[in-house]
Amino acid sequence: MIKEVFQKLGLSETNSGASVGGSGGGLVTRGRELVSFSPIDGRPLASIRQAGAEDYEEVAARAGDALGKWAATPAPMRGQIVREMGDILRRSKEDLGRLVTLEMGKIRAEGLGEVQEMVDIADFAVGLSRQLYGLTMHSERPRHRLYEQWHPLGRIGVVTAFNFPVAVWSWNALIAAVCGDAIIWKPSSKTPLTALAVMNLMAPVIDKYGLEGVFNLVIGRGSEIGERMIADRRLPLISATGSCKMGRHLGRTVAGRLGRTILELGGNNAVIVAEDADQEMALRAVLFGAVGTAGQRCTSTRRLIIHHSVRESFLDRLAKSYGRVRVGDPLEEGVLMGPLVDEAAVQGMERALEAARTQGGEILHGGERLEIEGLEGGFYVRPAIVAAPAGLPIMAEETFAPILYVTGYDDPEEALALHNSVDQGLSSSIFTNSLKYSERFLSHLGSDCGIANVNVGTSGAEIGGAFGGEKDTGGGRESGSDAWKGYMRRQTVTINWGDEMPLAQGIEFDAD
Ligand code: NAD
Repeated sequence: MIKEVFQKLGLSETNSGASVGGSGGGLVTRGRELVSFSPIDGRPLASIRQAGAEDYEEVAARAGDALGKWAATPAPMRGQIVREMGDILRRSKEDLGRLVTLEMGKIRAEGLGEVQEMVDIADFAVGLSRQLYGLTMHSERPRHRLYEQWHPLGRIGVVTAFNFPVAVWSWNALIAAVCGDAIIWKPSSKTPLTALAVMNLMAPVIDKYGLEGVFNLVIGRGSEIGERMIADRRLPLISATGSCKMGRHLGRTVAGRLGRTILELGGNNAVIVAEDADQEMALRAVLFGAVGTAGQRCTSTRRLIIHHSVRESFLDRLAKSYGRVRVGDPLEEGVLMGPLVDEAAVQGMERALEAARTQGGEILHGGERLEIEGLEGGFYVRPAIVAAPAGLPIMAEETFAPILYVTGYDDPEEALALHNSVDQGLSSSIFTNSLKYSERFLSHLGSDCGIANVNVGTSGAEIGGAFGGEKDTGGGRESGSDAWKGYMRRQTVTINWGDEMPLAQGIEFDAD
């Protein structure tokens, strides 16, 4: 099966780790070898010769060469090209989705969902290509026209995390492409093959329109190629997805050269379940939010803040649902949770649970490492539920694993305070039928996150809205709404079509 998927996606046992796009765009790379392993059984999938410093230089230069032609292509035409890319993704959903599962470990349905997200964002970008609107303002001066227009930004760097190995590229690249930018993508070293597959899938469109240099890839370590990229003054924007630790460093480096960033960093998302909540709905949302993608989503539900009056009955039902979750081969029908991405992730989970125990938490369910027959090299765990007194220090951290901390509350204000007590501010949710309480949650006094949901879980955002979070999550916005503005430069224009030379603010400045 792996052979067949590889063949369809143009992958081989050894691959080049840098490309300027198109069927002839792969470079003869000079970096170190990287082996991609499947978390399903720990076996190697393929190797990649990573990009070296000279390879990065070549890619950056070729991206620069491509800019003029691409930026001069009318935006609706750029949209039509992105439409053709979306069509290829639509046709390749099965194969690319399968590769996402093989390399990252998310279950089939989620692997397919990730590719569907790429298709959706392509559709969105096509429409957007005719809607890169600027405002027209009324000038305070007679016979003057004042308006703003949006130009391509140039070459942009896109750094992606392992957990959405292809969708996050599309959020950035397909929107940036209709904006007229050239994209240099550095994927996670844990998921290089999915990135290569995307480049291979896009090749026919790149060949057809002669777009070498517009969509580029460099595979290499964060500390090597990543560092080179974020320090590169030719890249006015770095859009980066990953941990808060990475984002803090990257943000400082790019700010140091007065570059721009879009930062999509860690979350520590909570669901509040109120006394009057529809428990059935809340249960389904919490289960998917905490266990889906094995707790490896930035929007995963990590904290449940539940009214004391319903805590016991809810937890009872939740534990039963957890008990029915099949953990195993993510390619198998009926499995709801696949492996964690690697051994370090399993150890991170074990460390967090040990800390929870010593700090006064109680493990109510799961948490143990699992051996799946026939997949002994894989990284499987049972999802955990932990009873956590308010203020448990480990709860303030994002552990990228299926751990759900549960804290009870009596007073709605106490629940909100608990909710907002962490450093991260990505996604948030409340389950209640009270208009007052839900409005309070959505008001400026309520959730401090970039995403706030009522009777909807924290996980699984739609592409139409702007996606991102506040506080240590980094403040970036990607995907829908007006997030495209991050990939363009705004120019304010004033035209005087009269015969006088009036100054703004009525200033008289005459030497006669
Ligand atoms: P990570 O921080 O380990 O790596 C992310 C990316 O940053 C990788 O491509 C890595 O190579 C790169 N990187 C590391 N050091 C770098 C450097 N010095 N210069 C340039 N690039 C560098 O994160 P991960 O383990 O791949 O992903 C999990 C994290 O990502 C979690 O914290 C999760 O919440 C976060 N995430 C956030 C969002 C969001 O939209 N907010 C989405 C997905 C994942």
